[in-house]
Amino acid sequence: MMTAVEMTADRAHWPSVKGLIDVGRLFHDRGWSVGTSSNYSVVLDRDPLRLIITASGLDKGRLTPAGFVVIDADGRPAGPHEPKPSAETLLHCVLARDPGVGAVLHTHSVWNTLLSDRYYPQGAFRLTGYEMLKGLAGVASHEYRLNVKIYENTQDIPALAGQVRADLAAGAEGLRHGFLLRRHGLYTWGRDLEEARRHVEIFEFLFEVHGRQLLLPPL
Ligand SMILES: [Zn+2]
Repeated sequence: MMTAVEMTADRAHWPSVKGLIDVGRLFHDRGWSVGTSSNYSVVLDRDPLRLIITASGLDKGRLTPAGFVVIDADGRPAGPHEPKPSAETLLHCVLARDPGVGAVLHTHSVWNTLLSDRYYPQGAFRLTGYEMLKGLAGVASHEYRLNVKIYENTQDIPALAGQVRADLAAGAEGLRHGFLLRRHGLYTWGRDLEEARRHVEIFEFLFEVHGRQLLLPPL
């Protein structure tokens, strides 16, 4: 069995680790993952499901290969040398069970926090008419109506993960590309890390546009 040091040295060469370190730097610089917030994962194996996910409590702008945990389908660390996984690990596991999901990214931005609170009473909100919507997988027109579902924030992650899983299974509205947690942040995903990263950029752009539009004075 590898030592913790050998394990970290080996992971430094994994494309998923290099990609997630880049994502952390970008999202931190953009103000979407500050103060050790956020968590990111990539699917390593499908059967049985294994993911690599950010460890708990690390600055996402300065991640290193030691800052990741390999976990199983239930969010348990895969080996004795693994650090503690992120508190929200189970949400990643639930989302990654879909065979079309290869990476899951979670951000805490100012605009997603503000809008998740503003629209929480109605459970979801709609974004439409923006060219940037075409950056979302499977969307071919700016006329696409993007529904964004909002869940209440909670520390009971197993209960929240169970709710998200049930809603996904039921084909609930507002969960096609991502969802919000109230006063907390965005979860989005993609078939691979590249697509998931693009989805974060598209969502955060649209949230900021919508949020700023609410502040503009009427003509
Ligand atoms: Zn979070």
